[in-house]
Amino acid sequence: MGKRVTMVVDWLGAGARLWRWAPSVCALCGQSCRRTPARCCDACRVGLTARHDTGRSVRLDHGAVPACFAFRYAGPLADWLVEAKFGRAPPSPGEILTPWATASSNAAATASIDAWVAIPPQLDRLRSRGWHVPDLLAGRLGKASGHPVERLLVRTDRGAPRSRDHGVLPHFAAAGRRDGRRVALVDDVVTRGETMRLAAAALTRAGHEVVLLAALADAGRGDDSCRSAEPA
Ligand SMILES: [Zn+2]
Repeated sequence: MGKRVTMVVDWLGAGARLWRWAPSVCALCGQSCRRTPARCCDACRVGLTARHDTGRSVRLDHGAVPACFAFRYAGPLADWLVEAKFGRAPPSPGEILTPWATASSNAAATASIDAWVAIPPQLDRLRSRGWHVPDLLAGRLGKASGHPVERLLVRTDRGAPRSRDHGVLPHFAAAGRRDGRRVALVDDVVTRGETMRLAAAALTRAGHEVVLLAALADAGRGDDSCRSAEPA
């Protein structure tokens, strides 16, 4: 009995010493890599282009709204997002999102938001998968900033996902409270801002105000800091 306890203690001690050098798995590409708080291999880290460091905005119907993007939509992040959306388990991005969460929190304080609102999924899609990346992102931002995540939007169309049919525009309707919240919209990828524009329009019709956008990836063309969400 005594010997067994000693063995367990020794094993724990060795484990603690080895922990720093034990192989870890990159949160983006799944390859084993050096264990770091970010859980991201060197190759992926180099391939990530941070976008949260400069002021950007997306033009909605009521004017340009500040936007806080984590990364440019490319390389390892694009691959990871496909896996996060369609994989068999919810994504766990480790500390990769921390700088973005911090920047978004600061932007939320500046914009005096009341709540984060995730772009909702088509209902049949959420049922088939069990999680929705914008919900996970909004939860992360809510934790970072201390603001609640509120479900003020529902998706009312049930067409093909936009990844398969870019001609189909989403339809949104307001839901829940209608007492004029100042909200930050959260999505995974923003390309032209069309989804954000339509979601913001639905919220505006219900008396809310969209004062901030946050997204994991900016897939806009070029390096323009302010885009129009009008159809090109
Ligand atoms: Zn990697």
